[in-house]
Amino acid sequence: MPPPSKAPASPARAAKSPMQKALDRLGLKRDIDCALHLPLRYEDETRITRLADAREGDHIQIEGTVVDCEVSLRQRRQLLVRLDDGSDACTLRFFTFYPALQKSLAVGTRIRARGEVKGGFLGWTMMHPVTRAATGELPTALTPVYPSVAALPQAYLRKVVASGLARADLSDTIPTDLLQEIGQQAAWGLRQALHYLHHPRPDVALATLEDHSHPAWQRLKIEELLAQQLSQLQAKRERAQLSAPVLKPVASHAAALHQRLLAALPFALTTAQHRVVAEISHDIARSVPMHRLLQGDVGAGKTVVAALAAAICIEAGAQCALMAPTEILAQQHFGKLVGWLEPLGIQTAWLTGSQKTKERRKMLALIESGEAALVVGTHAVIQDKVQFKQLALAIIDEQHRFGVAQRLALRQKMGQEGFEPHLLMMTATPIPRTLAMSYYADLEVSTIDELPPGRTPIVTKLVNESRRDEVIERIRAQLAQGRQVYWVCPLIEESEALDLVNATETHAQLSAALPGVAVGLLHSRMPQAEKQAVMSLFAQGQMGVLVSTTVIEVGVDVPNASLMVVEHAERFGLSQLHQLRGRVGRGAAASACVLLYATGEASRLGETARARLKAMQETSDGFEIARRDLEIRGPGEFLGARQSGAAMLRFADLATDTHLLDWARKTAPVLLDRHPELAERHVARWLGGKAEFLKA
Ligand code: ADP
Ligand code: MG
Repeated sequence: MPPPSKAPASPARAAKSPMQKALDRLGLKRDIDCALHLPLRYEDETRITRLADAREGDHIQIEGTVVDCEVSLRQRRQLLVRLDDGSDACTLRFFTFYPALQKSLAVGTRIRARGEVKGGFLGWTMMHPVTRAATGELPTALTPVYPSVAALPQAYLRKVVASGLARADLSDTIPTDLLQEIGQQAAWGLRQALHYLHHPRPDVALATLEDHSHPAWQRLKIEELLAQQLSQLQAKRERAQLSAPVLKPVASHAAALHQRLLAALPFALTTAQHRVVAEISHDIARSVPMHRLLQGDVGAGKTVVAALAAAICIEAGAQCALMAPTEILAQQHFGKLVGWLEPLGIQTAWLTGSQKTKERRKMLALIESGEAALVVGTHAVIQDKVQFKQLALAIIDEQHRFGVAQRLALRQKMGQEGFEPHLLMMTATPIPRTLAMSYYADLEVSTIDELPPGRTPIVTKLVNESRRDEVIERIRAQLAQGRQVYWVCPLIEESEALDLVNATETHAQLSAALPGVAVGLLHSRMPQAEKQAVMSLFAQGQMGVLVSTTVIEVGVDVPNASLMVVEHAERFGLSQLHQLRGRVGRGAAASACVLLYATGEASRLGETARARLKAMQETSDGFEIARRDLEIRGPGEFLGARQSGAAMLRFADLATDTHLLDWARKTAPVLLDRHPELAERHVARWLGGKAEFLKA
């Protein structure tokens, strides 16, 4: 590759042009960011193929002289260029073209054209080839094609990356002795690997670059995984320096609040629930802030564990906050916790965005004075106005629904330098082992791995949309037995180009098909009060069928519901389907989940959709589903959009690079202890300003 004729200014120094903004969006701020911006694929401009040697369908580069260039108006306006390379001629055909292109292809010019050649009655043609003047030597390396955004031409991006690569400090930060045990890839230094990947020689086995198995790629994965492990380890060590309130039961054993709560519950805890409560109470009895994830499949009974943790906190004289991602879910938790705790003399407060000002003020006062020992709510809990007297335990339900910034905000509610509340995060989407080892490496994990007794397994059926009538028949049968039914639709309006049956229409249809049955409708655009009213009618059993968009996805608990129908199931993600399905099978009745899918021209059941639906039918084990979800979608989508970006691995693939991850886990503490300055440089190089973000 020839050096760029005019290298653009360092991205850090240039003014904010549209190009600059585009570079920012790609995260290309520093020279090293540019150096680490690796090609998606390559184009081979290193050789010229004679047309006489070309075969139908070859992707080749040809070089020749333009012998004809004209705009034809036959059928469609198009630019036709005839190129003669001495062995044969080829017609280049452009349907969209600007005057500049036409000018660069004037008769007599020598050019190179790259594209797919097709033979035919009129000889060779290339549709929309990439053309350039045939000046200078042929490049000796493959031409990189970088991930880009609109407004940023490859040619410009190539120059930016090349100059970043030339300027960046690429000295190794991993001492060779630490690399020994992973073998071959250790032979490649960072500098060598990067130069290679940006400009590989044309004789490389392209497959090894594409599947990232090439030693140069391996080196980058190693580097990336190590950076991630290091930053998590640093976060963990920093947290260990902070203080948290020591939360120990103070009263005598039998009188302790959590003991009284246990005694008052209408059920006995499962062994798994007992175990996780013990793990949590052990953590919060220490002065180091807890950072624990409680995972348990839908319906495993996480709420009561949260309540017991809250009780221990409250009996130690401190406040506990519980934050849930949706108002309905927060409301439900509130209802449950109030039902359990208020009879024991605990005052609670409730905070949401839709609250009336007067009520809100009252709540804020209760929280500030410390009278409210337990505060339940939505994002409203982390707003600036909310002042706790002594927040000691923060519980976040469905933690993956919250962003990093929100988790940080909750932790900052302690309001004292060097102090942090204990943090308990809950999730019904179990985290596969590899993710737990990487993204959540600085978390302690508690797992509820058994369901409360008496649950009957949910039967899952895949049913073609064309058999909708049979499904409605089935609903009738359930209703006749006094059961209730959920019907979930993916979208609320048909405004999106997708041709989805909307909830409103389905609601009308079901109402007509089920005369005398109360059919409710719940969707995200409804006012909060209305949502609540519908939800409580359903919860009280006064509504037979609830048609809903995915607002019911998380957490709602109506044990009498025994049938769930998911419409256009092929459009949902696996974990989402699992969560939805978890809304039924909460009581003793046999429950079923019907996944309606559409086929046909308009919405062909794609490969991944098929895999998802099949997985749903085959297993109801949340861990297995999470594992398959990770396989099908990759960690980016698995973790959710809110957590992507900063924390995402760009190069390593957790599904296949487990051995590299193992190495990184083992190596991080060694590097940090023996060569702290190298560790720091390594993290800064890879994560830059994002390292802070990873610690939430
Ligand atoms: P999730 O883990 O999905 O949040 P919940 O906390 O909502 O589950 O619990 C699901 C249902 O199971 C609730 O009705 C809850 O009261 C009930 N439950 C929880 N633990 C037990 C138990 N040990 N025995 C019987 N029922 C339980
Ligand atoms: Mg829950």
